[in-house]
Amino acid sequence: MDYKQELANFFGENCRLNEPMALHTTYRTGGPAEAYVYPATPEEWSFVLKIARSFDIPLHIIGFGSNILVGGKGVGGIVCSTKRMQGLTVEDGHIKAQAGTALDKVCEEACNAGLAGMEKLSGIPGSVGGAVYMNAGAFGQETFDCLEYFDAIDLEGRPVTFLKQDLKYAYRHVEGIQNYIILSASFQLAKADFTHLIQTRNTILHKRLEKQPLEFPNAGSVFKRPTNDYASRLIDDTGLRGLTVGGAKVSEKHAGFIVNFNHATPEDIRQLMQQVRQKVKEKHGVELELEQILWGEFK
Ligand SMILES: Cc1cc2nc3c(=O)[nH]c(=O)nc-3n(C[C@H](O)[C@H](O)[C@H](O)COP(=O)(O)OP(=O)(O)OC[C@H]3O[C@@H](n4cnc5c(N)ncnc54)[C@H](O)[C@@H]3O)c2cc1C
Repeated sequence: MDYKQELANFFGENCRLNEPMALHTTYRTGGPAEAYVYPATPEEWSFVLKIARSFDIPLHIIGFGSNILVGGKGVGGIVCSTKRMQGLTVEDGHIKAQAGTALDKVCEEACNAGLAGMEKLSGIPGSVGGAVYMNAGAFGQETFDCLEYFDAIDLEGRPVTFLKQDLKYAYRHVEGIQNYIILSASFQLAKADFTHLIQTRNTILHKRLEKQPLEFPNAGSVFKRPTNDYASRLIDDTGLRGLTVGGAKVSEKHAGFIVNFNHATPEDIRQLMQQVRQKVKEKHGVELELEQILWGEFK
């Protein structure tokens, strides 16, 4: 039996073959995944890892697909979604959340419980696993600020707990966790005034609506913030607002975003990323570094 058939037999409705990644990424474009599965229990993870090892198949983990661009030719191997891994508990100033829980849900619950430290992460449309992996952040707050530890498994299925103090992390980067699957994360938060937290959260959500082109599919900031500057400022100053390749455009509302405004192919988006990098380099001598992650093969 081939590996896809084995997955289909085991996972039933939680396995899709040749699944368009446009359905699972916020850019709403991207070729098919050979196999797309939703493991949640230890047995299911153990099965999918065993299949990947014994057939020598690459494995990819996806949260909410809000930071990924998949090439038009699709992605080989198995994509594992954490969407069935949901739930969180709040206890004594600690919040523990499963990897597939929405980060924004954690922020909301923290604010409701009068716990400070994650209110400025409100509205980031990723999962807890994706936020830890990326050290997602906004408005001066980062996921790692309040992270205590996270539980993971390695590709052999062995459990590991990573304590924050044992990890090297920086702006949108965590070292040495690339070959692990994050299962859950625990955050330690400080007691604070409930009303103030809710106000901050609402202000942040409002700012996002006002400043970001949420009316079009996108995947947030395309590039990392260069030292002492903003990618959006450099892009704007290079006159690239509104620059278009096929159905992809540098957002007129926020120059740090590329939007899929008209059935963009992944190749349109990637070409536009390259043009922006090149033009900013020519004008400002700054090499913008991609924040978004490219998967699979491009046409
Ligand atoms: C409108 C919009 C606004 C945004 N604003 C911000 C912002 O303010 N700040 C910010 O930092 N980002 C922002 N982003 C980007 C994105 O939401 C974050 O990077 C988020 O943390 C990604 O989470 P995700 O679950 O979607 O991860 P995905 O895009 O699914 O995956 C991202 C990476 O994480 C890995 N990964 C995901 N889950 C796991 C897991 N359980 N175990 C191991 N690896 C895993 C994936 O393999 C991949 O390499 C924005 C995106 C959008 C669309």
